[in-house]
Amino acid sequence: LISAEILRKKGVVVKNHFMLTTGRHTMEYVFKEKILLEPTLFSEIILNFVKLSRKFSFDMITGPAQLGAIFASPVAFLLIKPFVFPEKTQSGKKEMYFRKSFADAIHGKKLLIIDDNITTGSSINQVLIAISQLGGDVAGILALWNRENYQPKKWKNGSWSEEKIPLFSLIGEKIPSYDSRDNNNHCPGCMEKLRLIDPKKG
Ligand SMILES: [Zn+2]
Repeated sequence: LISAEILRKKGVVVKNHFMLTTGRHTMEYVFKEKILLEPTLFSEIILNFVKLSRKFSFDMITGPAQLGAIFASPVAFLLIKPFVFPEKTQSGKKEMYFRKSFADAIHGKKLLIIDDNITTGSSINQVLIAISQLGGDVAGILALWNRENYQPKKWKNGSWSEEKIPLFSLIGEKIPSYDSRDNNNHCPGCMEKLRLIDPKKG
């Protein structure tokens, strides 16, 4: 079974004072790309996603580039489902977009989203907006780890509706992140004045 403990043992999850891409701080970082160096673990995660996907009725599979797409693609392969993926816009903004061939295919379809590690959910929210704007619907979300108990809702007619999207996470354990610009910043790393690490650079 996949657990936070196994990921720690394999060195995928590391304890220190880390900065996330959103600028938030965390005391444990998930080096998702290290899962690709552990083929047995990677395979087990993919097969778990395949099993969980049976809970949903959907037409296609998607996962945000790069790592979400890398996890979602083999699931689509095993289920013989079409696969599309969104990317960050060139401008470096946080919006996600689907290239034209994918955008045309999404219209009127139900999608299952697969992602690796979800913290605040801000990038998944961008995927939900992009799918809705293309006339697609989201059946559900499967994540390796929903670290902060993010609860997705449907984007309808330009705003968030009250309609929840079901999300299943392979790992149940919660790990908080902290807003370091907040006056009431409770980040333990900041309080202990530990060096802040950018996990993409080291
Ligand atoms: Zn901090």
